[in-house]
This record gives sequence, structure tokens and C-alpha cells, in this order.
Amino acid sequence: MTISLSTQTISHLIGGQQITESARDQAIYNPATGEEIRRVPLADNELLDTAVETAAQAQKSWRALGLAKRSQVFFKLAAIIRDEADDLARIITEEHGKTIPDAHGEIARGLENVEFCAGLMHHLKGESAEQVAGGVDVEQLKQPVGVVACITPFNFPAMVPLWMISTAIAAGNAVILKPSERDPSAVVWIAEAFSRAGLPDGVLNVVHGDKDTVNAILEHPTIKAVSFVGSTPIARHIYSTASAHGKRVQALGGAKNHMVVMPDADLDAAADAAISAGYGSAGQRCMAVSVLVAVGDIADPLIEKIKERITPLKLGNGADSDTDIGPLITAQARDRADQILASAPDEGAEIVVDGRESVTDRDGFFVGASLVDHVKPGMTVYEEEIFGPVLSVVRVDSYQDAVELINSNRYANGVAMFTRDGRTAREFKFDIEVGMVGINVPIPVPVGAFSFGGWKDSLFGDTHMYGPESFNFYTRRKVVTSRWPLPSESQIELGFPSN
Ligand code: NAD
Repeated sequence: MTISLSTQTISHLIGGQQITESARDQAIYNPATGEEIRRVPLADNELLDTAVETAAQAQKSWRALGLAKRSQVFFKLAAIIRDEADDLARIITEEHGKTIPDAHGEIARGLENVEFCAGLMHHLKGESAEQVAGGVDVEQLKQPVGVVACITPFNFPAMVPLWMISTAIAAGNAVILKPSERDPSAVVWIAEAFSRAGLPDGVLNVVHGDKDTVNAILEHPTIKAVSFVGSTPIARHIYSTASAHGKRVQALGGAKNHMVVMPDADLDAAADAAISAGYGSAGQRCMAVSVLVAVGDIADPLIEKIKERITPLKLGNGADSDTDIGPLITAQARDRADQILASAPDEGAEIVVDGRESVTDRDGFFVGASLVDHVKPGMTVYEEEIFGPVLSVVRVDSYQDAVELINSNRYANGVAMFTRDGRTAREFKFDIEVGMVGINVPIPVPVGAFSFGGWKDSLFGDTHMYGPESFNFYTRRKVVTSRWPLPSESQIELGFPSN
């Protein structure tokens, strides 16, 4: 099966078949040029039903395949992704806008989960206890849940799908993958790579769509689990609707990540980190730093160092090797970031660097790196997840004020602290109510053997995603109690067994 990305309309992939016919479709843009580059079909309920039935059939034989054979698919997939990462990176950049090195970064993080999943035999080991009572043994198995749905956001068009589908498939499930309709071609490439790695048809099905498709997924009786990553209002909707329809759900939401800079911090390292985490991927990362919390009198020198570093940053097409910051995903995202920036002075903040002024190309969806000082809670620039290259500086007097500010925020995805003092760092780890913490690390990226996820309005559900927690999410426990009595040992026992 070969998928040509030059085709005008990309395909759904169901049971190994490419399907482009659709009553509805939608444009995909290159955000660096503003041009429509292809179209994506939007599935109706009938197509979703076909995909789910196909998945349910394929899952029966997939879960029955020997685990060593299942593992081979992941070893081969990892090799394909490693060897052909340039092709995937080009696709990501064309539809998302991020730079090529940044696209390679997300591929590397997705690949790490594929490699983690190659050890699936280890991750699927259950537990057992011998002789829980006389001649009685108990074992606890991890079995797949069946057909699972994975609904992914635009900002990591390869990494987040690879987080979800690799683990779901490794655990013996079949998948309905609904990628973001804004940059779905990376997922089409990944599905083809899975197929080349030997995954049987029907185990991974790609169903393109929008909110109507998602809502049909949430109510579909055959789908047993839903994994979602996206914005907070949608994550909340996914969690409540899918739970109400009896599914297990993990729904990761939006973020407003703070980076605390203590007075004793290495200011150059803090400024470098603020630039990298604030403006990398044009601020369109769930782990982007968007608020700098400057403690004591550190704000003025820190701002000076950040300003110096903003000046040489080049805004442009992510496909060009000299570009530092690419475009935002849509014209609407750009206009929203512009409007939030415009609101800042009216609400009492001070724009130190105005990224709207560095934009010369109005065809692409660009906003330049921006820095806003004297930001306070209640201001739009503080409250909203801008998802653009806008860094706010909040000045506070003390460590305690910094912790209170962050713990009062409704988002709790990631947080960072820059300090040279181990004791302050340790207190911060203990005090802060956020799911992922970086100490002198601005973006705690996902690491395969650990999990990924926030707290509060950044995650709805009980489990983090990625790594071992995902193996738990995509499996259900079965406890088997057994004994092999001799005929002479068998007797009627009407009382509830006691030990
Ligand atoms: P989004 O919520 O707009 O879309 C995510 C998915 O939901 C897409 O597949 C989309 O088709 C679907 N969707 C959109 N509107 C819907 C609706 N009304 N009903 C049902 N489904 C709907 O998110 P996005 O703009 O694609 O991604 C950016 C967001 O994702 C940011 O908020 C970012 O912080 C968040 N994010 C979070 C994490 C994390 O780990 N917490 C990781 C990546 C991205």
C-alpha cells in the first residue's frame, strides 16, 4: 500500500483500504504560506460504524497473536521511523509550520514510545501468588479492552498519536485514530509505516473528522476506551460524555505553564530556557512556558537578557533552515494572539517586545516573539492559554508568593524553577500542585519509561498518558483463582470460604 501525499484529498484508512469519498471535507493549509495544499474528508456515522466493525474483527486475531510476533512489528516500525524521519519531518512542517529540527524532536519522542512498546511482553506481565489458601493459586492477567479510540491535537501531529496508538496496539487492542483535521497527513504516514512493519489490516484504522465525528465516537457502543489530547473545554466534554457512555477515558487538556526564576538563578541559563520554551514551536506546545515568575528584584536584568536574545530570532517558513520561529496553525489562531497582545496595555501590562511588529509576511499565519511585563492575574494575557509566542512576566516578592500564584491557577500541566539552591528546589517539588516539574529544565519532555500528564484542568481522568500508565489504561485486569483438588478432597461447602 502506498499513500501519495501529493493527492488532492487524503484518505481514511479502514481495514487497509484507502477511502477518500465523503459527503463533507475540509481544507488543509500550509500555515507558512496561507495556501490550501490538500483536503481532508470528514467521516459520517456510517463510515465510523464500518471502521469500528472492522477494528472489532481485526482485534480478535491480533490479541491472539504471540507476543513475540507482536513485538516484531514495533522493532520494524522503529527502524522505519528512524530511517525515514526526514520524510515525516517534512510532512509535519508543511502542515503544522514548526521548523524541521523541531519536527525531528517530536518524532524522536514518539519513537521512544515505539521502542518502549517493543518490550511489550515485559509490560504485559501480570502477577500471581501461590497458595493463597490450601492448594489455591491466584493470578492476575492484563487483557486488552477491545476497540479504543484515540483523538489527537494539531500541535504534535506525530508524537501524540505515537504515544497513544503504539501502547494501545501493543496491549492487544484495535484502534480508531481520529487525528486533528488541521494537519492529519503525519498520521497517514504513520499508519502506512505500521502496515509496512507488518501490522495486520484493521488493527489501526484512521478516521478523519471534526467534532461531529468525535461526538459519534464518544457514544459508539463498541468503543471501550477513549484517549484524548487537546484543549481544556474539549477535554472536559470528552471526559464527561465518554464516561457517561460507559467508557474509560483519559483526556489531557490545555496549559498555562509558569517558570519561576529565583534571585540566585543563573540568569543566562534562565534567559536561554525562557526563549527556548517560550518561543519554540511558536509557543504551540502544551509544555511551552508562557509565564515567567520573577522573584525579588530579578525581573529587570532577566528581561534585558531575554530582549537581547529575541532580536536575532528569525520568523519564517519552518522548511527554511535559517528559521527559528514558524507560523501559528491558522489565521484565527494568529488573530486571537494579536488581539490578546492588543488587550495587554489596556489592562495595565507593558509590552516590552511586540511580535506583531516583526511580521512582514501577511499571507502566512505569523506572530513574532513577544514579551509582556507587569502582568497580573485577571488580565486576559495571563488567564488565557494563548498558544502563541507570547511570554508574560509576573513580578512577585517571594518564593511563597510564586507558589501561591501557581497553585491558584486552574491549569496544572507543567512548571519549572530556576535556582542554584537545592533546598528551595526540593521545597518547590513538595509544595507545587502541578503534574510535571522541571528543576533548571524548562520543558520536562515525556520520557518513555515514565508517564506524562498534568493535574486540575489540564487532565480529566485517573491516569497519565505514555509509558507504563498507558499500558494500565489500555488493559483490564482479570483475576483467576484455581485449585486442582483430588477427588477425595472435594466436598459441598455452603458457607462463604474462609482461609
Ligand atoms: P482542540 O481541542 O481544538 O482539538 C483536539 C481534538 O479535538 C481534534 O482532533 C479536534 O478535531 C477535536 N475537537 C475540536 N473541537 C471539538 C468539539 N467541539 N467537540 C469534539 N471534538 C472536538 O485542540 P488543538 O487546538 O488541536 O490542540 C491544542 C490544545 O491541545 C492546546 O490547548 C494544548 O495545550 C493541548 N495539548 C495538551 C497536551 C497535554 O499533554 N496536556 C499535549 C498537546 C496539546
